[in-house]
Amino acid sequence: MSRRPEILFPLFADLKQLDGVGPKIAQNFENMEVTRPRDLLFQLPQSIINRQITASVQDVEPPTVATVEVQVGLHHPNAVKGRPYRVTVKDAKTTFQLVFFHARADWLREQLPSGQRRVVSGKVELFDGIAQMVHPDFILRTEKADAIPQNEPVYPLTAGITQKTMFKAAASALERAPDLQEWIAPSVLEKHGWVGWREALGTAHAPKTTRDVASNAPPRERLAYDEMLAHQLTLALARARLRRAKGVETSGDGKLRNQVMAALPYKLTNAQLRSIDEITGDMAAPLRMNRLLQGDVGSGKTVVALLALLAAVESGGQGVMMAPTSILARQHLEALQPLAESAGVVLELLTGRDKGRERSKKLAALEKGDIHILVGTHSVFQKDVEFQNLRLAIVDEQHRFGVRQRMDLGAKGRAVDILVMTATPIPRSLALVSYGDMDVSLLDEKPPGRKPVETVLVSNSRFDEVVNHLKHAVEQGRQAYWVCPLVGESETVEWAAAEERFRTLRFALGEENVGLVHGQLPVAEKDSAMADFVAGNTKVLVATTVIEVGVDVPSASIMVIEQAEKFGLAQLHQLRGRVGRGAEASTCLLMYAHPLTEGAERRLKVIRDTEDGFRISEEDLKLRGAGDLLGVAQSGLPRFRIADLEVQADLMKTAQDDARLLLHEDPKLASDRGAAARVLLYLMEQEKAIRLISVG
Ligand code: ADP
Ligand code: MG
Repeated sequence: MSRRPEILFPLFADLKQLDGVGPKIAQNFENMEVTRPRDLLFQLPQSIINRQITASVQDVEPPTVATVEVQVGLHHPNAVKGRPYRVTVKDAKTTFQLVFFHARADWLREQLPSGQRRVVSGKVELFDGIAQMVHPDFILRTEKADAIPQNEPVYPLTAGITQKTMFKAAASALERAPDLQEWIAPSVLEKHGWVGWREALGTAHAPKTTRDVASNAPPRERLAYDEMLAHQLTLALARARLRRAKGVETSGDGKLRNQVMAALPYKLTNAQLRSIDEITGDMAAPLRMNRLLQGDVGSGKTVVALLALLAAVESGGQGVMMAPTSILARQHLEALQPLAESAGVVLELLTGRDKGRERSKKLAALEKGDIHILVGTHSVFQKDVEFQNLRLAIVDEQHRFGVRQRMDLGAKGRAVDILVMTATPIPRSLALVSYGDMDVSLLDEKPPGRKPVETVLVSNSRFDEVVNHLKHAVEQGRQAYWVCPLVGESETVEWAAAEERFRTLRFALGEENVGLVHGQLPVAEKDSAMADFVAGNTKVLVATTVIEVGVDVPSASIMVIEQAEKFGLAQLHQLRGRVGRGAEASTCLLMYAHPLTEGAERRLKVIRDTEDGFRISEEDLKLRGAGDLLGVAQSGLPRFRIADLEVQADLMKTAQDDARLLLHEDPKLASDRGAAARVLLYLMEQEKAIRLISVG
C-alpha cells in the first residue's frame, strides 16, 4: 500500500526529462525547491505581461512593455567602445530606437534588415526623454507575430532560471499532469464553482487578466484548497489514531471540583466554565481527548487546568501538568498546592533538580498513587516516571510543541487524555494548521476588573529619566520587571547584559531593592530571586525572557522592556501580560533605539494601541507571514506553495471539516473518493499521513 500510485510517476520523474531542462538548469531549479515535475505544477505565475499589439509606443506609459509593428530604419553600430548598438525604427506614430548592449552586428542585421517590417515586443523606457526599447523580448516577422503570447505569465524565478526556461518547463510539466479522480467533496466543489484538478492547473498557469493571478481566482483557490485538504487529512488521520477508544472513561462526581471552586477567591468567568465543561465532557467520553485550550494572557487558564486535573483524581486517577520552565512549574506548585490541599488532594513538583533519594521517593509515591497530581518540566515525561493510573496530561504554554511531538506523546501507549494550553492566542488560520488535529476551547473573556495597562514608547536616550521614574515608583512601594534585550545569537552576551543592567539598577535604586534572574544562574538562585520578588522583598526584578511566559506576580505593576524593537509581537504581548494582574493601574515602558525600522515601528505601535491578544496575533500574521510564525522548518509542517493563510482561513476551516467528515465516513479511505484522497496525499507528499493509513 505504501507505494506511490503509478498514475503519478510522470510527475515524480527526473526533472531533466522536461523540455529545456539539462543538468545545469535542474541544479538551478533546486534553489527554488523544484526537484521534480510535480514541483513546477505548484509554482504558479505571480503576474502577467500584456503583450497585445498597439499602434505606437506613444500609446503606452513608460516604463512598460509594449508590442508594436515597426519599419526598420538605420543601424548605428557601437562606434565608441562601451556604447550600445542602436537601431532606429518607426511605428505608426513615432520613431524610436531599439538598443542592444554587447551586440553581434551580423546577427542584428539578419534579425532587423533595414527597410523591412517587424513586430517587436519589449520594455519601453525613456532615456533623455526619448522612448527606447532595450533588448526586445521578441523580434518577429509580421506574419509570425502570433507566436508572441498575448498575456505572458510571469513566474517567480531564481538565479539561473529565466522566464523562458520556466515557461517551457512548466508547460512541459503540465503536459505530464494526468487526469485524476476528484478528491474534493462534491458539495464543496459545487459551492465554490471549482473545476477539476487538471483544468484548474491549466487555467492557473495561463492567466489572462490580473484577476486571474489573484489568490481568490477560482482555479487558484481550488489548488490552494488541495494543499489545505491534504494537510488537514494528515491531521485528521493523526487525530483519528490518537482518539481511538481509550478504555477508561474519566467522569468524577464533581466533589473535589466543587470544594476547590468554593475555596477560590473569585468566580469563574463564563468562558472558563464553558471550557471546563468541554474538557470534562471529552474526558468522560470513551474516546481519548486531544484538545487545545486557547486563551489570552491572564485569561485564567491555570485554574481551568486544575479543575480538569481534579476530575481525573475524582475518578480514582492521576493527572500531570508540564510547564516549559522550572520557574513556571514551581509557580504552578505554589498557586495550586494550597487549593489542592484544601480538598485533600496531593499535588507535587518534579523537575530536573530532583535527584537521588528525593527523586526516587517521589517516583515511588507516584507509582503507588500517593501523589495525585504531578506538575513539573519535561522531566515528568521521562521514561522512569511511572504513574499508578494516569488519566490526564496537560502541556502548558507550549507553542514549541509541534504536531509530531504531540503524536509522540500520544504514542506513549497510555491512552491518557491530552490538553494543550497556548501561551498567547494564535490566529485562527494558524491554529487550524498547527493544531488542526485537536479540538479547541477558547477563553475569549478575561476575568472582570482588569485595569488596562498604559503602554508608552520611550527612546533609549531617555534612560536616566526612566530610572528616575522607577526610583519614585519603588519609593511608593511599587514593583517592576526590567527585561533585558535578546542580544543576537549569543546567550552569554545576553546574560552579561542582564548582569550589567542589574549592577546599574542596584546602584541607582539601592542594593536591597533589585533582584536578578536569567537562564545561566544556578536554579537555587533563580528560585530565591523569584521568591524574594513574589514576597515583595525586592522591588525590581531584572530578567531576560525567562519571565516571558506565564509568571504571575499580581503585585507587580510596571514592566520595562529594553530594546523592545528586538522582540516579536507575541513576545511583547506575553511580557506585558506579566503586569496588569492586580488591583493597581499598570504601566509598560517600551524602550527602543533610533532609528526604528518600518517593521519595528509598526510592531511597537500595535502593542501600544491594543491589549487584545487575538488582534495582536492577526497583526503578527500580517507582518511576518505564516511561514515565519509557524516556524515551519522545525515543526515539520508543510510549506504551502499556493495557499495563502493570511486570507484563506475560511477555506482552511472548510478543509478541516471536509477531511474529518471523509475520514468519519470512510476511515480506511477505501471508497472511490477515499482512493482519490490517497492519490492527493501522495501528490502532496504527505508521507506521514500515508504511514498512518498503512498502519491502519
Ligand atoms: P494565564 O491564562 O495567562 O495562564 P493565569 O491562569 O495565570 O492566566 O491567571 C491570571 C490571574 O488571574 C491569576 O492571578 C489568577 O488567579 C487570576 N484569575 C483566574 N481566573 C480568574 C477569575 N475568574 N476571576 C478573577 N481572577 C482570576
Ligand atoms: Mg499561564
